Amino acid sequence: MWGRRDRSTQVTCIACGETVARADAREYDKHGNRYDRREKEFEHLCKPCYRATDHQPRGDLEALLVESGAGECDRAEFLARYGDLATESRRENER
Ligand SMILES: [Zn+2]
Repeated sequence: MWGRRDRSTQVTCIACGETVARADAREYDKHGNRYDRREKEFEHLCKPCYRATDHQPRGDLEALLVESGAGECDRAEFLARYGDLATESRRENER
């Protein structure tokens, strides 16, 4: 009787793999258009991950990747540099 809105429906967060109630998740559309729902299956993010995606304005991402040496240094070094830079700029955003 409760149909599809039943809170027992579970989805999996694509970022952390956590299983959460559908009602507690946020839809994530990799095509960037949540309003065109035709023949689409949405992926889901749990609330903490959804919030985390908002932290970094996308405008900085490109510069951050370049500065981290994306495509130039090996994976381990890139990740270390990216981690440092991303943490730094997040701190600045929260100030
Ligand atoms: Zn998550």
